Amino acid sequence: MFVYGPVPSRRLGQSLGVNNIPPKVCSYSCVYCQIGRTKNMKIYRKEFYKPEDIYSEVKTKVNQIKENGKQPDYISFVPDGEPTLDKNLGIELDLIKNLNIKTAVITNASLLWMDEVKEDLSKSDWVSVKIDAVSDDVWHRIDRPHGGLSLQKVLKGVIDFSKSYKGNLVTETMLVSGLNDDPRHIEGIAEQILKINPRKSYILVPTRPPAESNIYRATSESLIKTASIINSISSVNVECITEDDTEQGFFFTDNVAEDLLSITSVHPIREEIIRHYIKVKKADSSILKELIDQNKIIEYTYEGKRFYKRNLDALKQ
Ligand code: SF4
Repeated sequence: MFVYGPVPSRRLGQSLGVNNIPPKVCSYSCVYCQIGRTKNMKIYRKEFYKPEDIYSEVKTKVNQIKENGKQPDYISFVPDGEPTLDKNLGIELDLIKNLNIKTAVITNASLLWMDEVKEDLSKSDWVSVKIDAVSDDVWHRIDRPHGGLSLQKVLKGVIDFSKSYKGNLVTETMLVSGLNDDPRHIEGIAEQILKINPRKSYILVPTRPPAESNIYRATSESLIKTASIINSISSVNVECITEDDTEQGFFFTDNVAEDLLSITSVHPIREEIIRHYIKVKKADSSILKELIDQNKIIEYTYEGKRFYKRNLDALKQ
């Protein structure tokens, strides 16, 4: 399944997700990653799937959504890993343009030093680049990068891309208590944002179960201070995203089990939201239990709330 949702997104509205990377191939293993630890660290691009197969599934899903009187705001590459590791990303973006819906890519930016990655991302209407750290020490503690990467090269790649990119460029910084929220470090992040000059700079906190158990969201005071430092140094508009998902905005078909499997492989969902859609779709209330018994979905508790996510370990790599 290459497509999931749409799921609600504060930044993108109704976002139809494209999962163009197998679980879980990434150049980072962020401590807060909601998909879990990275088992397959990579920095070289390759073909994972046929672009036509991805396009065909996206097209079918868009038609299905339209038949229900809806329309996604964005078709977004937010996969089980780093989307730019897919060497066909540019071809897929070109194909999806035929559907006349805006495209988005959320990237960790670690491969932007490659010209071919810049070229592929230039085809997307909206690109979000991750800036969690500007010092090697913090970068290694929060993003846990592949050993072949260099932070200076990554930061320069993002600045170079920002000079040529014509679309809507934003940055995102995940703020983790005690890891990257020291004001002096935030000043360094703000200097980097100043050089990129994005349309907006988003500050996020972990709201879904993270890869490591000792990860906590930054405090409200720290968030306010961070937003103020970034805005005063870079003059960029800063927005903090700290809320949990609500029932609004998810798209479920009558096949609730299949939708749950595709969404939770990328986006853990709270129990109340699943129960809500089981009720709305008049689906069998035992679906969730069956998926857990079949070892396809696993239960997690984070900040006192119960979440469900796909058991990626049970899938073939
Ligand atoms: S948060 Fe994104 S960049 Fe970090 S490990 Fe997860 S998929 Fe990779």
